[in-house]
Amino acid sequence: MSALKELYQQVILDHNKAPRNFRKMEDATRSVDGYNPLCGDHYTVYVKLDGERIADVSFQGAGCAISKASASVMTSLVKSKTVEEVEELFGQFHRLVKGEIEGEEEVERLGKLAAFAGVSEFPARVKCASLAWHTLHTALKSEEKTISTE
Ligand code: ZN
Repeated sequence: MSALKELYQQVILDHNKAPRNFRKMEDATRSVDGYNPLCGDHYTVYVKLDGERIADVSFQGAGCAISKASASVMTSLVKSKTVEEVEELFGQFHRLVKGEIEGEEEVERLGKLAAFAGVSEFPARVKCASLAWHTLHTALKSEEKTISTE
Protein backbone atom coordinates (compact mmCIF):
# COMPACT_ATOMS: atom_id res chain seq x y z
CA MET A 1 0.00 0.00 0.00
CA SER A 2 1.40 3.44 -0.86
CA ALA A 3 2.07 5.96 1.92
CA LEU A 4 -0.71 8.15 0.60
CA LYS A 5 -3.25 5.33 0.58
CA GLU A 6 -2.20 4.45 4.11
CA LEU A 7 -2.78 8.04 5.20
CA TYR A 8 -6.24 8.01 3.62
CA GLN A 9 -6.98 4.75 5.40
CA GLN A 10 -5.96 6.38 8.69
CA VAL A 11 -8.36 9.29 8.14
CA ILE A 12 -11.26 6.88 7.59
CA LEU A 13 -10.36 4.70 10.59
CA ASP A 14 -9.92 7.73 12.84
CA HIS A 15 -13.22 9.38 11.86
CA ASN A 16 -15.06 6.07 12.15
CA LYS A 17 -13.71 5.44 15.63
CA ALA A 18 -14.14 8.99 16.89
CA PRO A 19 -16.74 10.68 14.67
CA ARG A 20 -16.79 14.49 14.84
CA ASN A 21 -20.04 16.37 15.49
CA PHE A 22 -21.75 13.10 16.38
CA ARG A 23 -24.73 14.36 18.39
CA LYS A 24 -28.36 15.27 18.17
CA MET A 25 -29.06 18.99 17.69
CA GLU A 26 -32.14 20.16 19.55
CA ASP A 27 -32.37 23.58 17.92
CA ALA A 28 -31.58 22.59 14.33
CA THR A 29 -33.10 24.66 11.52
CA ARG A 30 -33.45 21.48 9.48
CA SER A 31 -32.94 17.77 10.01
CA VAL A 32 -33.19 15.04 7.40
CA ASP A 33 -32.99 11.25 7.70
CA GLY A 34 -30.89 9.51 5.07
CA TYR A 35 -31.03 5.77 4.32
CA ASN A 36 -28.88 3.50 2.24
CA PRO A 37 -30.87 0.24 2.22
CA LEU A 38 -28.20 -1.59 0.22
CA CYS A 39 -25.77 -1.43 3.13
CA GLY A 40 -28.07 -0.56 6.04
CA ASP A 41 -26.55 2.88 6.68
CA HIS A 42 -28.93 5.35 8.27
CA TYR A 43 -28.16 8.81 9.61
CA THR A 44 -29.91 11.97 10.62
CA VAL A 45 -28.12 15.14 9.57
CA TYR A 46 -28.87 18.32 11.55
CA VAL A 47 -28.17 21.82 10.27
CA LYS A 48 -28.45 25.18 11.95
CA LEU A 49 -28.47 28.02 9.47
CA ASP A 50 -27.55 31.62 10.06
CA GLY A 51 -28.89 33.19 6.88
CA GLU A 52 -26.93 31.53 4.07
CA ARG A 53 -24.21 30.26 6.40
CA ILE A 54 -24.02 26.95 8.22
CA ALA A 55 -23.71 27.95 11.87
CA ASP A 56 -23.66 24.37 13.09
CA VAL A 57 -23.97 20.87 11.69
CA SER A 58 -24.11 17.46 13.33
CA PHE A 59 -25.23 13.90 12.68
CA GLN A 60 -26.40 10.76 14.44
CA GLY A 61 -27.09 7.23 13.36
CA ALA A 62 -25.30 4.06 12.40
CA GLY A 63 -23.73 2.35 9.44
CA CYS A 64 -20.52 1.04 7.96
CA ALA A 65 -17.10 2.63 8.53
CA ILE A 66 -17.11 4.42 5.18
CA SER A 67 -20.51 6.03 5.70
CA LYS A 68 -19.74 7.14 9.25
CA ALA A 69 -16.27 8.47 8.43
CA SER A 70 -17.68 10.33 5.44
CA ALA A 71 -20.41 11.97 7.54
CA SER A 72 -17.82 12.92 10.16
CA VAL A 73 -15.37 14.44 7.64
CA MET A 74 -18.26 16.24 5.96
CA THR A 75 -19.49 17.89 9.15
CA SER A 76 -15.96 19.00 10.04
CA LEU A 77 -15.52 20.57 6.59
CA VAL A 78 -18.82 22.38 6.05
CA LYS A 79 -19.19 24.19 9.37
CA SER A 80 -19.25 27.99 8.87
CA LYS A 81 -19.35 27.61 5.08
CA THR A 82 -22.13 29.12 2.98
CA VAL A 83 -24.77 26.97 1.31
CA GLU A 84 -23.19 27.75 -2.04
CA GLU A 85 -19.72 26.70 -0.88
CA VAL A 86 -21.14 23.46 0.50
CA GLU A 87 -22.85 22.70 -2.79
CA GLU A 88 -19.54 23.21 -4.56
CA LEU A 89 -17.78 20.83 -2.15
CA PHE A 90 -20.57 18.30 -2.63
CA GLY A 91 -20.03 18.49 -6.39
CA GLN A 92 -16.30 17.86 -5.98
CA PHE A 93 -16.89 14.98 -3.59
CA HIS A 94 -19.38 13.42 -5.97
CA ARG A 95 -16.91 13.60 -8.85
CA LEU A 96 -14.19 12.16 -6.61
CA VAL A 97 -16.11 9.06 -5.53
CA LYS A 98 -17.26 8.47 -9.11
CA GLY A 99 -13.61 8.47 -10.17
CA GLU A 100 -14.03 11.58 -12.30
CA ILE A 101 -11.15 13.55 -10.80
CA GLU A 102 -7.99 12.62 -12.64
CA GLY A 103 -4.44 12.81 -11.32
CA GLU A 104 -3.04 12.46 -7.83
CA GLU A 105 -2.38 16.20 -7.51
CA GLU A 106 -5.97 17.10 -8.30
CA VAL A 107 -7.17 14.55 -5.75
CA GLU A 108 -4.74 15.73 -3.06
CA ARG A 109 -6.00 19.28 -3.47
CA LEU A 110 -9.27 18.11 -1.92
CA GLY A 111 -7.60 17.67 1.47
CA LYS A 112 -9.44 15.33 3.84
CA LEU A 113 -12.02 14.54 1.18
CA ALA A 114 -9.26 12.83 -0.79
CA ALA A 115 -9.39 10.00 1.76
CA PHE A 116 -12.45 8.73 -0.10
CA ALA A 117 -10.80 8.57 -3.52
CA GLY A 118 -10.41 4.78 -3.25
CA VAL A 119 -14.18 4.38 -2.97
CA SER A 120 -14.50 4.95 -6.72
CA GLU A 121 -13.14 1.43 -7.26
CA PHE A 122 -16.08 -0.05 -5.36
CA PRO A 123 -19.39 1.06 -6.90
CA ALA A 124 -21.49 -0.31 -4.02
CA ARG A 125 -19.46 1.84 -1.62
CA VAL A 126 -20.14 5.06 -3.50
CA LYS A 127 -23.59 5.17 -1.91
CA CYS A 128 -22.11 4.65 1.55
CA ALA A 129 -19.63 7.48 1.06
CA SER A 130 -22.12 9.94 -0.42
CA LEU A 131 -25.13 9.24 1.84
CA ALA A 132 -24.38 12.02 4.35
CA TRP A 133 -23.68 14.47 1.54
CA HIS A 134 -26.98 13.70 -0.20
CA THR A 135 -28.74 14.06 3.14
CA LEU A 136 -27.12 17.44 3.83
CA HIS A 137 -27.89 18.57 0.29
CA THR A 138 -31.56 17.69 0.85
CA ALA A 139 -31.57 19.59 4.16
CA LEU A 140 -30.23 22.68 2.40
CA LYS A 141 -32.22 22.49 -0.81
CA SER A 142 -35.61 20.96 -0.24
CA GLU A 143 -38.41 20.38 2.21
CA GLU A 144 -38.05 16.59 2.21
CA LYS A 145 -37.69 14.89 5.61
CA THR A 146 -36.17 11.65 4.44
CA ILE A 147 -34.10 10.47 1.52
CA SER A 148 -33.05 7.04 0.32
CA THR A 149 -30.26 6.10 -2.03
CA GLU A 150 -32.60 3.56 -3.67
ZN1 ZN B 1 -22.36 1.46 4.00
